[in-house]
Amino acid sequence: MTREAGRHFLQIPGPTNVPGRILRAIERPTIDHRGPAFGALCKGLLADLRTVFQTAQPVIVFPASGTGAWEAALVNTLSPGDRVLMAETGHFATLWRRLAERLALEVDFLPGDWRRGVDPNAIEERLSEDSGGEIKAVCIVHNETSTGVASRVGDVRAAIDRAGHPALFMVDTISSLASIDYRHDDWGVDVTVAGSQKGLMLPPGLSFNAVSEKALKASEMAGLTRSYWAWDEMLATNAKGFFPYTPATNLLFGLREALDMLLDEGLERVFARHARHGEATRRAVAAWGLETLCQDPREHSNSLTAVLMPEGHDADAFRAQVLERFDMSLGNGLGKVQCRVFRIGHLGDFNDLMLAGTLSGVELGLGLAGVPHRTGGVQAALDHLAEAAAADRRNTKTEPIPA
Ligand SMILES: *Cc1c(COP(=O)(O)O)cnc(C)c1O
Repeated sequence: MTREAGRHFLQIPGPTNVPGRILRAIERPTIDHRGPAFGALCKGLLADLRTVFQTAQPVIVFPASGTGAWEAALVNTLSPGDRVLMAETGHFATLWRRLAERLALEVDFLPGDWRRGVDPNAIEERLSEDSGGEIKAVCIVHNETSTGVASRVGDVRAAIDRAGHPALFMVDTISSLASIDYRHDDWGVDVTVAGSQKGLMLPPGLSFNAVSEKALKASEMAGLTRSYWAWDEMLATNAKGFFPYTPATNLLFGLREALDMLLDEGLERVFARHARHGEATRRAVAAWGLETLCQDPREHSNSLTAVLMPEGHDADAFRAQVLERFDMSLGNGLGKVQCRVFRIGHLGDFNDLMLAGTLSGVELGLGLAGVPHRTGGVQAALDHLAEAAAADRRNTKTEPIPA
């Protein structure tokens, strides 16, 4: 391999670009995880994490990938043979289902076509039929990273309430937390699952459970076997600023930096930035004459866009050319949309010009790979970024300085 000049564009929807500030924070010498400096760090982290999950309830940190936090959510709250309701929104929902089945849970899997989010009416209908309260939990993926579809979590909550059903509500926010507005408390979520390597801008290796009072209560009776993932020991040690086992100390240094960056920018502005980049990307896709996998305009993801390849063209061959020629990694099609879609990640530590570069690489790649399209996608995205910049400028305009 010859040397690649300039910076690699990591435009997969996670892991995302890790900012230099965070890399430098992680590089510091590891400290004693039972000493006073660690205790102070841990207490601050656990407090500030609540802001990002928009909750006043505890957030638990595991040294694990997101999959670990999926497992933790289930084993802490459920018993073997319990029935859970899930929805087939895409590849990640399918993986969570498989994990649940391996834990001896009975999964009702609402079918889906991978082009829409969770249907709140279907949830309401299924729960209304369950007068015996057999269903113990409703588990959904907020942002389906395989399809670029964001489900309407608040509407699903309202559907559960309309059915008057007592099931726990669990939501995977691995690719939406700190990118798309997400409200653990307002939306009455019992367990929120998250990971470090997407909106939180960290390397892979940390995952999270935010837990409600109701989830904690359920954990007292839950019969599934758990040890590493057990919330009770974790919460008891966390209260003193420590962990029951060795935490990922250096990733926690990085988490401190990530939280400082997010809270400095302000969550509102973080969400607005992702919304701007999502919209600009969709305008580029439309101008190219291509189609997003997402079909409902209310459900477009602002953290990634999945683009359908025209019939007869292989998305992976296109991605390979983009990587080889322009040193940019795009996300592949997962599961049943393998080779049919490519995914553009626009989440995490990302700005207007990085998006412009990313979309330029896609447009150049479409040409290079001979994929039928119109040019002008990049220009359509730039037009949206320019409009957004002008609108922000009008809103923040100060009095002119007197001559
Ligand atoms: C990335 C992702 C996962 C998997 O997380 P790992 O860290 O790879 O275990 C699960 N769900 C969603 C929605 C994701 O985006």
